Parts: sequence; structure tokens; C-alpha cells
Amino acid sequence: MSDRRPLPILAGIPDQPTDDRPGLTGLLPDDLSAWVESQGHPRYRARQAADFLWRRHVADIDGMRTLPASLRGALAASYRADTLAETVVRPADAGLTEKALHTLVDGRMIESVLMRYPGRPGRRDRATVCISSQAGCAVGCPFCATGELGFGRDLDTAEIVDQVRFWARHLAAEGRHVTNVVFMGMGEPLLNTEAVIAAAQALVDPARFGLGGRHLTVSTSGVIPGIERLTALRPPWTLAVSLHAARPSLRDVLVPLNRRYPVRDVVEAATAYGAATGRRVSYEYVMIEAINDTAADAEAVAALLRGRLAHVNLIPMNPVAHTPWRPSTPERIEAFARVLDEAGVPVTVRRNRGEEIGAACGQLAAEQAGAPAPSAVLRRRERLEREGAAALAGGNG
Ligand code: SAH
Ligand code: SF4
Repeated sequence: MSDRRPLPILAGIPDQPTDDRPGLTGLLPDDLSAWVESQGHPRYRARQAADFLWRRHVADIDGMRTLPASLRGALAASYRADTLAETVVRPADAGLTEKALHTLVDGRMIESVLMRYPGRPGRRDRATVCISSQAGCAVGCPFCATGELGFGRDLDTAEIVDQVRFWARHLAAEGRHVTNVVFMGMGEPLLNTEAVIAAAQALVDPARFGLGGRHLTVSTSGVIPGIERLTALRPPWTLAVSLHAARPSLRDVLVPLNRRYPVRDVVEAATAYGAATGRRVSYEYVMIEAINDTAADAEAVAALLRGRLAHVNLIPMNPVAHTPWRPSTPERIEAFARVLDEAGVPVTVRRNRGEEIGAACGQLAAEQAGAPAPSAVLRRRERLEREGAAALAGGNG
């Protein structure tokens, strides 16, 4: 299609910021107050500005109508109200899901997803926003579209929270608001830990975005130092660990970070997080037919998680072009779930909602990047077939 531009991550274009003003939402409230005072304005003006940012989700400093023009001018000279230069929204799943492709100021692209869960008796309406923490990802899980892009750069705090403010603005037009935030978009949150923690703190701060702390989830492919950093903070957030395999040799292939942080140590670190916070840890398991969905795999997951404060989510793999793999059939997923259930490990089978949470993420940006050369796809498929076969031959190793 003619509106497809090459993705800078792939094209290797160096960062060329067109605008180096930082995002206002990356400032702590005290720093914003100090800055406003340094400009010769009373402190309460900072509270007014914060109100525009966090309650009305303004994307433009000119929209801060009650601030004096001189303060608006000074603000606009030093900061941006919004770090997302351009956003294209595409509906999916009969409008219940919407995906946004955001272009950052330096031209890089990231994506976020809104999922609406209409209320039913006894359950309130929910609107979950899935956000990115990096442009691209260095971990390189072979079933993930973001992994295929490679690593671009870390997002800063403002770029992370501005994705949530984008959807808050979008929902406000319908009289709704964001109820849940999950770090399951592009990137590995715990390889950008400080910006992610600062963003999460801004989101749950009652004086800023005001999300309930229990309504925030950080997903990780298993970065142990990052999990330990979170544990020390003891936040009420949910930790989700992308497990995908319990057998080390298979997990080495599916989540290459396993070579650095072995699955057993990851689960111990996650268990310590659960103990420190009282929060049940979620284990995400993407179901790939005849790769990680065998009875032996289910037994291995049961043995690993039995007796822990854990919950397993089984998610059919969303097909991506560069893998030879297919999603598991519903029958195989049910059989897998039964093994966990019988071992007393809580398990939920997720339906693939319009290419569900994480599955959706990374794919828009990958599409935008254009299809990789068929020969590259073929080489990659062949390598994965070999590695998958080798890992399977490794049995319980
Ligand atoms: N990097 C972090 C968070 C982003 S990925 C992590 O890996 O946890 C969010 C979730 O989407 C992960 O559980 C990831 O494994 C999953 N995911 C990635 N590609 C997928 C696909 N093709 N189908 C289904 N889930 C996928
Ligand atoms: Fe990175 Fe997560 Fe994708 Fe793995 S699944 S490549 S860690 S974004």
C-alpha cells in the first residue's frame, strides 16, 4: 500500500529528533512545581497544568486554557504535552479491540492496544490498555512479531504514559475511562526498568493518572534483576512471566533470554515477588502446536509451578509470517489445561481475541515495516524448524 513507509528500526536510520523537548508527563509533580516557580508563576499553576495533563489528557499545551499565555508559551518552549507525534487507529474484533500505531518524535513506531470488556451482571465494564516499553525488542522470541524487528531503543517515561493518555482521551469521548493497564506491548519492560517503574508510578499516583495499583500488570520474559528490583519496591502490581516452556532446552529456543536467566531461577524470583506483594503471579504460555503443547510439556509446567502462588494463562499462538509454527488446536489446549488443573495449578484458556493482548502487539509495526524478503523468511523458518526439532529431541532436558 502506498501509505507504508519504511520502519526506521529496520531501515537503520539513525535517530534524528525533529524536536528534543521532553514530554511534560515525564516530570515528577514536585519538579513541575519547581519549574513553574522558576518561571515566576505561583505554585498552584503547576497543579492546574497537572490537571490538564492527567485529568483532561490534553495533547497540546495550547489546550491548557486557564493558564496565562506567558506560562503556556514558556511551557511550550521547553516541553511537549504529548510525545506521540502521530497516531493511526485501526479497529479489530468487531470494534471491541482497537490498535494504535504511534509515531514518536524521532520517527520510530510503537503500538498500543485498547481492549473493551463490556460489563455483565456482577462485573463492571473494563477497558484494558496494552502499552509498549521499547521500540522493538532485543530478546528475539521466535514466535513474536516484535522480536523479529530487533531492538530500536528504550522509551522514556513520558512516551510510555502518553500511550495510556491517548486511550483515556479516546475513551473519554464515550464517557468511559481506562480501568487496566498491561505492559504487554512492544519491548521487554524489565530491560527498561527505571522508565517503566517511573511510568507505572505516574499511572497509579492518585495525584496523576490515578489508576488502581492492582489494575496494572508488568509482563517480563524473565529478567531476574528487574524482577528483584520490583520485589524491593513491593508494589501492588501484577507480575506476568512469559513462560512458554518449562523444559530448559525448549525455553532456550522459545525465549532466548533463558540462556542468561534460566527458567527455574526466574520462577524463584517471581515467587519471591509474589511472597513480598501477596499478588498471584501470572504465567503466560503461548501454545504452539507440537512444539510446546505436548503432555511432557504440561507435566513439566505442573512440576515447576505446583504449590506456588501462580496462575497460568494458555494463549493460542497468533501466527506470524517468519515462523513455520501453528497455534495449538483447542483440543490440545484443553488437554494441556487438564494436566495443570489436575496438578492443582490454576489455569485459564484465553481465546484469541482479535489476536489477543501481546499477540496483537508488535504486529502493526511489523506490517508497517513491510514484509521481509522471502529468502530471509525461508532461512529463518528452516533454522527454527531445526532448533525446534533439536529442542524436542532433548526430551525433558
Ligand atoms: N516482552 C514482554 C512483554 C511484551 S510481550 C514479555 O515477553 O513478557 C507480551 C506477551 O505477548 C508475551 O507473553 C509474549 O510472549 C506474547 N506474544 C508474543 N508474540 C505472540 C504471538 N505470536 N502469539 C501469542 N502471544 C504472543
Ligand atoms: Fe520481546 Fe516479549 Fe516479543 Fe519476546 S515476546 S521478543 S520478550 S516483546
